[in-house]
Formats: sequence, C-alpha cells, structure tokens
Amino acid sequence: MPRESLEKLYLHELKDLYSAERQLLEALPKMAKKAEHPELRTAFEEHERATRKQVERLDRIFKDLGTEPGNQACKGMKGLVAEGEEVMKAFHDTDVRDAAMIAAAQRVEHYEIAGYGCARTYANLLGHTQHAELLQQTLDEEGKTDQRLTALAENVVNLDAMKV
Ligand code: FE
Ligand code: FE
Repeated sequence: MPRESLEKLYLHELKDLYSAERQLLEALPKMAKKAEHPELRTAFEEHERATRKQVERLDRIFKDLGTEPGNQACKGMKGLVAEGEEVMKAFHDTDVRDAAMIAAAQRVEHYEIAGYGCARTYANLLGHTQHAELLQQTLDEEGKTDQRLTALAENVVNLDAMKV
C-alpha cells in the first residue's frame, strides 16, 4: 500500500473513533442513570470521565496532524447506541435490564478496541510513535472497561437477573 493511502486510511479511522467517542459521551450518562446496581452506575460514570480524556487524546493527534476531526459520522456506534436504547426500553426488570446494558456496553468496547487497535498499528507503521502511545493508552482503558464489565456481570448482575 502506498504510504499516502495508509495516511488517508489512518485519518479516516481517527475520525471514526472521534465520532464514536462523542456519541458515547452522550449515551453514557443515560445508561448510568438507568443502572440499578450502584457498581454498574459507577462503572458507567467512570467510563464517561475516561471517554472525555480519550476524546482529548484524539484532539491532540488531530492537532499534531494539522487537521480537524470534521463531521465524519461513525455509523457503527450509532447502531450500537440505538441497540442499547432498545434494550433499555425492552427490559423492565431492573436486574435483567442491567445485564442487558452490560451486554450492549461490551459491544461498544469491543468495537472501540478493534478501531483503536488498527489505528495504533497504522500510527506505528507511519512513524507517529507518540500517537501510537496515546492510542495504546486508550486501547488499554477500553480493555480494562470490558474486563470490569465481564466481572460485574459474572459476579453480580447476571446472578441477580437469574433470581427474577
Ligand atoms: Fe472510548
Ligand atoms: Fe469505551
């Protein structure tokens, strides 16, 4: 692949991630508000704070590239957020709804993990070492969030949902 094309793809991926994070920033407070388990509410609230920092990291990268995120929309995140809203309405039992929100949130994290992993790899290939470090930091945070949600589901929320 010619270097110029990979730069273009890198920028495309960064813009997609930026749009994804911005959409998630709007969705997370709603999910926190709906969460019945305090641990889940805290997890969503903390991930909202982490997401703000993730947006700042992307801002730094765009600035370094001398460009702006623009308005390229991430359709994947749009769909994932819509599915989250759907289950929040569909399940009225609070424990089951918490389990459903975790399932939706984990889809979001996996989507982001795929995007950040690719962007980090392109950054390294293109010699943007500093970008790669920033993207790796976010990638690690998304991974930890995913693991935290798994533990919360397996140790608490799914068990409560079984008692219904
Ligand atoms: Fe994120
Ligand atoms: Fe995330």
